[in-house]
Amino acid sequence: MLIGAHVSTAGGASKAVARAEEIGAECMQVFASSPRAWKVPPLADAEAEKFRSEAERAGMGPTVVHGKYLCAIGSPDPELVEKSIDALTAELRIAGQLGALGVIFHPASHRGQGFDAALPQFADGMKRILDAVPGDTLLMLETSAGSGDHIGSKFSELGRIIKAVGSPRVAVCLDTQHVWAGGYNIADPAGLSATIKEFDSEIGLELLRAVHANDSMRDLGSAVDRHDNIGDGLIGTAGFKNILSNTAFANVPFYLEVPGTEKSGPDKPNVDALKHIRSKVGVPA
Ligand SMILES: [Zn+2]
Ligand SMILES: [Zn+2]
Repeated sequence: MLIGAHVSTAGGASKAVARAEEIGAECMQVFASSPRAWKVPPLADAEAEKFRSEAERAGMGPTVVHGKYLCAIGSPDPELVEKSIDALTAELRIAGQLGALGVIFHPASHRGQGFDAALPQFADGMKRILDAVPGDTLLMLETSAGSGDHIGSKFSELGRIIKAVGSPRVAVCLDTQHVWAGGYNIADPAGLSATIKEFDSEIGLELLRAVHANDSMRDLGSAVDRHDNIGDGLIGTAGFKNILSNTAFANVPFYLEVPGTEKSGPDKPNVDALKHIRSKVGVPA
C-alpha cells in the first residue's frame, strides 16, 4: 500500500516530484491544468520527459491526474458537455505523456435531468474521450458526496456508467470523505465490510485503483464534501485503522487531499499520520 498526496505543479510538472518527496509521499496526484479554468495548455514533450525521469529517480508512483472541477458530462447543457469532453480529452492526453495511471474526475451534476436521463450521454462522452486518446491511460470515476444532483454517491450509479461504457480503461477512485458523506460507514468494521461488498457487487473490486484519503468535517450521510486532516475529523484515527487494515485496499495507492496543518494542502504531518496507521495495522508499505 502506497501513501501519497496531491501536490502542486507550480513552475512545471517536473517540479511536483521534489514537493512530493519533501512531504514523504510515495506517489502523487497533480492537476494537468488549472482546475477552475477551462484552458488546458498542451504539455511540452521535454517537460513530460523531465517529469518521468524525476519520478523514476525518486521512485515515485503511480501518478494520477485530477481532472477539472468544472467538467460535467452529465449536464443537460450541450455546450458545457462539449467543453467538458474537450478538457478531459486534453487532460487524458497529458496524463499519458506523464506516464500516469489515469485521470480521476468528478461525475458532477446531472443538473436536474435525473441520472437515468444523463446516463447515455455520460457513457457516450466517456467513450469519446477514450477513443480520442488511444493507449492504456485510465479514465477514473470518483465517488461523490452526493449533494444536489451529483452523480456517483451510490456505487450502483458508477457501476451502471461503467457497464454502459464497456471499456477496460475505466476504473474508480474511492474518496473516503465522499463515501462517508454519501452514507457509507467506512469507519466501522461492519459498515466497511458492507461497503466493500456493495462496491464489489455493483462495480467490481478489481476496478478500485485509487483512494483519496481524507478525514471528514461533516457527518456520515451529510452529503457535504468537506475534507479534514487525518485523525482530526469524524472518520478519525480508529476509522482509518479500520480502512487500512481491510485487504480490499492492500494494493491500492492512497492520495491525501487534506487541508493540511497550515492550510496549505497535504503536508508531512498528514502523510506521516497515515504511514503511522499503516505500520500500526501491519500492512506492507
Ligand atoms: Zn476529486
Ligand atoms: Zn472532496
